[in-house]
Amino acid sequence: MEKHKPVVVVGAGPAGLCAAIELKKAGAPVILLDENDKPGGQLFKQIHKFFGSREHKAGTRGFTIGTSLLDESLKLGIDVRLETEVVGVDPGLRVWAVRQRASSELIEASRLILATGATENALSFPGWTLPGVMTAGCAQTLINVYRVLPGKRVLIIGSGNVGVIVGYQLMQSGAEVVGIVEALPSLGGYGVHTAKLARAGVPFYTGTTVVRAEGVESLERATIAQVDGSFKPIASTERTLDVDTICLAVGLTPSLELSSLAGCRTIYVPELGGRMPLHDEYMRSSVQEVYVVGDTAGVEEASTAMEEGRLAGVHAAWSLGYMSDDDMKERVDETKQRLNALRQGVFGQKRFNAKARIIQESQLR
Ligand SMILES: Cc1cc2nc3c(=O)[nH]c(=O)nc-3n(C[C@H](O)[C@H](O)[C@H](O)COP(=O)(O)OP(=O)(O)OC[C@H]3O[C@@H](n4cnc5c(N)ncnc54)[C@H](O)[C@@H]3O)c2cc1C
Repeated sequence: MEKHKPVVVVGAGPAGLCAAIELKKAGAPVILLDENDKPGGQLFKQIHKFFGSREHKAGTRGFTIGTSLLDESLKLGIDVRLETEVVGVDPGLRVWAVRQRASSELIEASRLILATGATENALSFPGWTLPGVMTAGCAQTLINVYRVLPGKRVLIIGSGNVGVIVGYQLMQSGAEVVGIVEALPSLGGYGVHTAKLARAGVPFYTGTTVVRAEGVESLERATIAQVDGSFKPIASTERTLDVDTICLAVGLTPSLELSSLAGCRTIYVPELGGRMPLHDEYMRSSVQEVYVVGDTAGVEEASTAMEEGRLAGVHAAWSLGYMSDDDMKERVDETKQRLNALRQGVFGQKRFNAKARIIQESQLR
């Protein structure tokens, strides 16, 4: 009986789309739910060429990857339900979904794959609630999805990939980036993205933080200052910049709401964004019928999210009898090889070690 219930995938970003594609290819019934009116998650906001190796779509723009995943899911005839927010799940694999904030339905799943992504971190300082202070992802959505420029003079807080990529895209959209502020002594993003801003003359303020934002109706200026060894601002180094927008690019935290409701155990791994569900090598959480993939299972990249989605899709299909042992093993081995290749280099090795720790811990508990 279990075999005839659908596998429910929540989140149609790169991770969820790939999981659903694998399940459908194996012949398993699958329903893919997403709260947005278009699938793709973060991919359609990403107009830059992806980093990584060519095999993993480096050099391809995020939205092009999104389009090809959508084409594949359409060809396969996957049941994609949009504008559908999942508001509850329980350990008995019952999923509560609300469509267009108007009607709700209860779906009984055979397996649940959670691909709900991550939430951007905020930073609080005097004036942070003024209109004009926003997260970098919000600014990216405004320019790349809605074609609206959030402001003319922008200060970016955080020099990781998100900060520098969004900074460059704001410049391309016609804004002036007056600076990138980074509390650490060195810059965080990939050199290729940082260099574009440096070449355009954008100043980088390392060892510096934002102290306050001021304005009457909305943001008019920001004060920044260097920090001491305990990251406390040094008052004598304060300087004020005229800006109408501050973009906070200070990290992401895995979205845990649904996995917590499903009863999945968690682990704290700062390298991957903080608290996240424990998972094994097949992306199975501590509740064996619930899988967690992509940023919700530790913040990495779209390329790793896609591979994790594939891994979970293949394993879930096999666990329901839709794939032979040999096929499952072959597909899992191929996917793991690609994942390992993605987790190399200075940034990748840290993520590789962190993931290995999560898998090891899942065997102990
Ligand atoms: C500025 C920027 C640049 C980046 N550049 C790159 C890059 O060059 N290369 C790269 O590999 N990666 C890049 N990334 C990272 C990449 O976008 C993410 O790692 C990737 O999108 C994660 O995929 P995901 O499927 O886990 O989550 P997401 O893409 O976030 O998708 C999650 C989906 O789940 C939906 N959802 C969440 N909760 C619910 C719910 N309760 N009900 C229904 N739907 C729900 C969300 O609305 C969303 O559509 C970048 C990210 C940013 C912000």
